[in-house]
Amino acid sequence: MRVLVVEDEKGIAEFLKDGLEEESFAVDVALEGRSGLRMAEVNDYDLILLDWMLPGISGIELCRQLRKSKSLTPIIFLTAKDTAQDAVFGLESGANDYIRKPFEFEELLARIRVQLRPKDSEDSVLKLGSIELNPDTHQVFKGSKEVLLTQKEFALLEFLIRNKGKVCTRTRIIEHVWDIHFEADTSVIDVYINFLRKKLDEAGSGKSFIHTVRGAGYIAREE
Ligand code: CA
Repeated sequence: MRVLVVEDEKGIAEFLKDGLEEESFAVDVALEGRSGLRMAEVNDYDLILLDWMLPGISGIELCRQLRKSKSLTPIIFLTAKDTAQDAVFGLESGANDYIRKPFEFEELLARIRVQLRPKDSEDSVLKLGSIELNPDTHQVFKGSKEVLLTQKEFALLEFLIRNKGKVCTRTRIIEHVWDIHFEADTSVIDVYINFLRKKLDEAGSGKSFIHTVRGAGYIAREE
C-alpha cells in the first residue's frame, strides 16, 4: 500500500515515513501543498496523510481540489487545530478522518487500518484460500502454519490479495508497493513473486496461488 504524506514539518514527515515503512508501506513525502496536490493527481495512492496548515495551498484546499477531481483516495487530516468546528470543517471538505497533533503513532496506524479495511469485512485480515494476511500484526498464515516474509514480500502479497481475481500489471504493482524513488527495471517484481511462490506454494505440487498472466502481469486466485 502506498501512502502520500503532505507535511511541511520535516521532522514529523520523516517520523511518519520511517514509521510507515517499518509497517511495509511505500511512502512518498511532499513538504508543501502544491507539490502534494501534483503528486496526488499523478500517482495512484492508497491513502493520503494531509497536514492542515501548509505553505503553498492549505490541506483543506488540497483536499477540496482532489475531491472535485473525483478522487476517492482516503484522506486523514493531521491537525493541530482542536475545536470541534474545525474537525467538522475538515470532514466537510471531503476528508475521511482526522487526528490531532501530537498523536501516538499507534493511534494513527489504527486509523489508517480502518480506512484500508476491505469493504466487506469486520476486521483487517485479508484472505486468499488457506492464506491469511493480517496487516495489524504483520503475520501471514497458511493454514495453521506461520509463513515468515520480508517487508517487500509482505507488501507485495498484501497488494495481490487486496486485488485477488484481478490482473495486477507490473506498473500497478510498482505504483502501489514501491515508492517514487523506484528506478530499477520491473523484473525485480518477478524476483519477489518467485520468493513468494517458494514460501507459499506446496513444494512439487505445481500449483500456485499467484498466476502469471503472460504479457500483462500477475493474478492471485483462490485455488
Ligand atoms: Ca504544518
